[in-house]
Amino acid sequence: MRKKFKRRIGKLFIVSAPSGAGKTTLCKAITKIAPDIKYSVSYTTRPPRKGEINNVHYTFVSEKKFKAMIAIDEFAEWAVVYGNLYGTSMKRLKDMTKKRYDIILDIDTHGAMQMKRKFKGSVHIFVLPPSLQVLKQRITARMSESVKELKKRMDRVKEEMAGYKNYDYVIINDKLKKAIRELESIVIAERLRIENKVREI
Ligand code: ADP
Ligand code: 5GP
Repeated sequence: MRKKFKRRIGKLFIVSAPSGAGKTTLCKAITKIAPDIKYSVSYTTRPPRKGEINNVHYTFVSEKKFKAMIAIDEFAEWAVVYGNLYGTSMKRLKDMTKKRYDIILDIDTHGAMQMKRKFKGSVHIFVLPPSLQVLKQRITARMSESVKELKKRMDRVKEEMAGYKNYDYVIINDKLKKAIRELESIVIAERLRIENKVREI
């Protein structure tokens, strides 16, 4: 039988941005257009928003359950964001990479730094809004948060943005189509890197 060359996959693409910049939209879009890339479903103690489905958008758990998972080291990373706990399950990552999928993770800057230390070769992408004014408009238009929640998120924008220089790539999410194309270009280019190695099957 003739052998073929195949690229080794299982790359982690980590996306961070201030709330409302559009990272969830971009992450979902890339899983629809690029083959073999899956979205990492995080665990959170935040209550579901209208329309959010358990185990699709997040796995929604109690604080007690989340803390029990921390105690047995179930998370590849976790952080407190806007007063709620969010974390990435190590088991979920392993299951997906075993199936040779690349994974896209939508996580905050603290979680992203933990991932950078743990997974050499992970690719870090920061999404910026075109301006702070547009950011505020987008969060308001999404109407997913109360006024108090909205303020909490806007107050943290500057802190979140300060970390963007630690990332490998930056996408300014002005026109959505262009931003999706830029994210796809990053995924394509990173998959072609020489250090990914090619295997014979
Ligand atoms: P994040 O996950 O970063 O908090 P979302 O992906 O939920 O942000 O996007 C926030 C809101 O802005 C959503 O209502 C989304 O549909 C909208 N949005 C995202 N990208 C764009 C864009 N390029 N132009 C206009 N609206 C956008
Ligand atoms: P939201 O509540 O708007 O869905 O997300 C709030 C913040 O939590 C965003 O910055 C998002 O990237 C972050 N987040 C979502 N899942 C995780 C996760 O598993 N780990 C970490 N560290 N942050 C996460």
